[in-house]
Amino acid sequence: MLFAARIALCAFAAVVGACVFSFGNVLVYRVPRGMDFVRGRSACPSCGHDLAARDLVPVFSWLALHGRCRYCGAPIAARYTVVELVGAVCGVVSVAVWGAAPQAAVGFAFLFMLTVIALIDADTQTIPNGTVVAVAVVGLAGLAWPLADATLVDRAIGVVAVSVPLFILAVATGGFGGGDVKLMAAVGLMLGWRLTVLAFFLGVVAGGVYAVWLLARKRVKRTDAIAFGPFLCGGTAIAVLCGEPLIAGYLSLFGLA
Ligand SMILES: [Zn+2]
Repeated sequence: MLFAARIALCAFAAVVGACVFSFGNVLVYRVPRGMDFVRGRSACPSCGHDLAARDLVPVFSWLALHGRCRYCGAPIAARYTVVELVGAVCGVVSVAVWGAAPQAAVGFAFLFMLTVIALIDADTQTIPNGTVVAVAVVGLAGLAWPLADATLVDRAIGVVAVSVPLFILAVATGGFGGGDVKLMAAVGLMLGWRLTVLAFFLGVVAGGVYAVWLLARKRVKRTDAIAFGPFLCGGTAIAVLCGEPLIAGYLSLFGLA
């Protein structure tokens, strides 16, 4: 592809990514509150003033308004803008990894849902069923435009490979929630069992390091629960983007590949 065309594609992907993740902010706010996320205008959470189109341009509105509401001056959380920037990065990464192909749209939708689920779980310690269903729907699209080199059998095993042991752990220890179990079943459909096991492994390591850090800083008590979903989502994102090289590198450490 011509260099200029490549730049144009990346710019397009960044803008689309920021706009879609801006809608992700809406989902993260409204879905746990049971609010309609399709209709209904966005309003300032402080003063309730309806927001106009010029207040809703991803990233740039926040910069132009110096991070404050145009109507009441209340600070707007930087997180909304950070999420939009992450969306721009996800858009560019999707076309870089999967090219100008339907896979890029499937991969981007997958990264989008992982981000929404991670944020909702971090906020509320729950993963709504609707968001898991959305991941499963993206997983079905992944049958037509696969993100992973996985057969139907690999995917069927993937649905149960992590979710069933996790379900047993959830019942036995209460350390994981039902949302984590359902999420890993949907991830298994999308990625097949190899990358799903890798995603879970990365999530457990990252979550474990974070928990030890919290305990060491005495931020939590040993009995407190922390949301595990964000780590599963992060591990899954890494697995879908660079899982195969990671597995190959890990196996070669032991002279297995
Ligand atoms: Zn306001």
